[in-house]
Amino acid sequence: MNVTPQPNIQREVTTVWNRCLSVIRDIVPEDSFNIWFEPIRPARLNGKVLTIQVPSEFFYEHIEENFVHALRKALDVAIGRDGQLEYSIIVDNGDSQNKPLTVKMPTTKTPQTARPDNVTPNLLRSPFELKDLDSLTLDSYLNPSYTFDNYIEGDCNRLARQAGYAVAERPGITSFNPLMIHGGVGLGKTHLVQAIGNYIKNNNQNKFVLYVTSEKFTNQFLNAVRSDGIRDFTSFYMQVDVLVIDDVQFLQKKEKTQEIFFHIFNHLHQSGKQIIMTSDRAPRALDGLEDRLLSRFKWGLSADLQTPDLETRIAIIQKKLQAEGVFIENNVIEYLAHSVNTNVRELEGVIISLMAQASLNRREIDLDLAKTTLRSIVVDSEREVTIDSIQEAVASYFNVTIADLKSKGRRREVVHPRQVAMYLAKEKTDLSLKSIGYHFGGRDHTTVIHAVQTVSDLVGKHPETRDTVAKLRAQFK
Ligand code: ADP
Ligand code: MG
Repeated sequence: MNVTPQPNIQREVTTVWNRCLSVIRDIVPEDSFNIWFEPIRPARLNGKVLTIQVPSEFFYEHIEENFVHALRKALDVAIGRDGQLEYSIIVDNGDSQNKPLTVKMPTTKTPQTARPDNVTPNLLRSPFELKDLDSLTLDSYLNPSYTFDNYIEGDCNRLARQAGYAVAERPGITSFNPLMIHGGVGLGKTHLVQAIGNYIKNNNQNKFVLYVTSEKFTNQFLNAVRSDGIRDFTSFYMQVDVLVIDDVQFLQKKEKTQEIFFHIFNHLHQSGKQIIMTSDRAPRALDGLEDRLLSRFKWGLSADLQTPDLETRIAIIQKKLQAEGVFIENNVIEYLAHSVNTNVRELEGVIISLMAQASLNRREIDLDLAKTTLRSIVVDSEREVTIDSIQEAVASYFNVTIADLKSKGRRREVVHPRQVAMYLAKEKTDLSLKSIGYHFGGRDHTTVIHAVQTVSDLVGKHPETRDTVAKLRAQFK
């Protein structure tokens, strides 16, 4: 039964409850107060009986267990010695069609007379805090800056993003439970699942959403084992409404952690709670994970994230710049999108160092700055060869200019070096044919294919070309 009191009665119950809170605030440590009392809503005042609405059964039990004396004192002050307390517990948050369902519970333990005034705050501390398990508070550990709004949609993430949005709108109700997002590093897994968590939290105030990395989950579990706190650990996780657990590949080969996760998973799933996971590989490739857990992962939906295509990369850069309030010319954006295609994190890294460079040297972000910045990053990380370095090496080997390589010139003296440079770019970078063409004066991808074929034919037939290519290649070892 859900309680919707009349306005003036509501005012009265609110006043009474506020008076209770001011008493409780003096007794209970601030942390505990914020965690356990802020979420409570005054529901009804019926004579001397005050009904308060709590978010879950776990909440009710915890309050009964730990804060009875504080509550008793509060009732004494706010209502009088014969004041009584009742709880209304939300057992189902409902959805767009159904109202939330709550059950009524009498207080079981509130003593009828107050204890002496000298209740020490320490006795009233939550047991979780004493055990120092940092996540065992009601913080969601969500970063509010990860949202759907700033998560660019593209072919690379369409299914995952749409499934994520469906889950965010109707957590625990869609068939996407669990929802598993998988994909390589830096492709946006954490961003997406955090966006789901934030969306749910913002739209359902009484749902407890929790984000945790698998690594943290494992460490908490190990600490709980050590400090004899497994029951607290499990019951904490079992009261979560939406569990977001990041990078589950970390659980590989950790049998005990998997076992406890299996139990928590089952409990949550059976109670219609939403589970959202990420992994750096597809579920079937998660070896070192128990079969029974893997089969659970397959109950819901598993969606992957791919490397973003050019258009998506451009949109991501634009969004990022917009968020930073920075303007750069389209040709620079295009250059960056064509040059960094590994993952979004790297793309962001380049944009950030570009902005840093620009502000340090007090200059505008132009194509030159973009090129130098990109080169220094690539050199620093000793990663792949850049297209610029290939063009430089080829130009100096054949004694032509870089402008020649990019020009429309059809003379054999420039066509051959240009084709060799394209051939090496295809071999040494992971740029797409389209992006290679872009770096050679905006040529079509078919031109690049033709160049690559021509040079590889020559390498097969022509010792001189074979020698040239080998020498150039050696420069990029
Ligand atoms: P993962 O968890 O897969 O390693 P992250 O979620 O940490 O990747 O993403 C890396 C960075 O790229 C983050 O800063 C994130 O905001 C950004 N990012 C990834 N995908 C997108 C996208 N589609 N739109 C906007 N930003 C994105
Ligand atoms: Mg991540």
